[in-house]
Amino acid sequence: MEAAQSSPMKVDPNFANLVESITHLNLTSCFQCRKCTNGCPVTFAMDIYPDQVIRLAILGQKEQILNSSTIWVCSACETCTTRCPNEVDIAATMDALKEIAVKEGVQIPEPKTYAFHRAFLEDVKKRGRMFEGSLMQSYLLKSGEFYKKILNGTIKEEIALGWSMFKKGRLPLLPKGIKAKKEIKEILKK
Ligand code: SF4
Ligand code: SF4
Repeated sequence: MEAAQSSPMKVDPNFANLVESITHLNLTSCFQCRKCTNGCPVTFAMDIYPDQVIRLAILGQKEQILNSSTIWVCSACETCTTRCPNEVDIAATMDALKEIAVKEGVQIPEPKTYAFHRAFLEDVKKRGRMFEGSLMQSYLLKSGEFYKKILNGTIKEEIALGWSMFKKGRLPLLPKGIKAKKEIKEILKK
């Protein structure tokens, strides 16, 4: 019997340059100490770890990175960025990778997380800050969860949760504006 041939690894030699051109970082300054990964609170849900993302980007493993759940699971908490001794801003790198994945039409492995990202950014673009009331509605509609919850009856639980948050003063009825709304819009446009 013939040995199974594994498909050759695709390498994109320009991938690290592309990421660096968006983030203005030097990825090769990473010396793989793993301080980023050891501090990341969501590695349990990642398929590749933050330090591996950097190494794979340097090695031109574009497809593996763009198809990973890691870039969507990342919550942008910036713990990794703060811990890195070489000033590799991994949180910004994850954002850049999301941006590239969307531009290149990659099928997002975490559609609900992507729906949340879109709902969050649209909300911030509109008001300069997030408003919980509209964010949750927008997320439920974009992710398709709203219809699912209506069909299976769990929408009642969402309403009960919203009501209990409202009673505790955690869900304001009206959004609060901010002074630098225009500037935030400009930043997001860039
Ligand atoms: S903490 Fe910084 S230097 Fe260490 S592995 Fe992570 S990115 Fe690389
Ligand atoms: S920014 Fe993302 S990768 Fe970095 S520690 Fe937070 S969740 Fe993990």
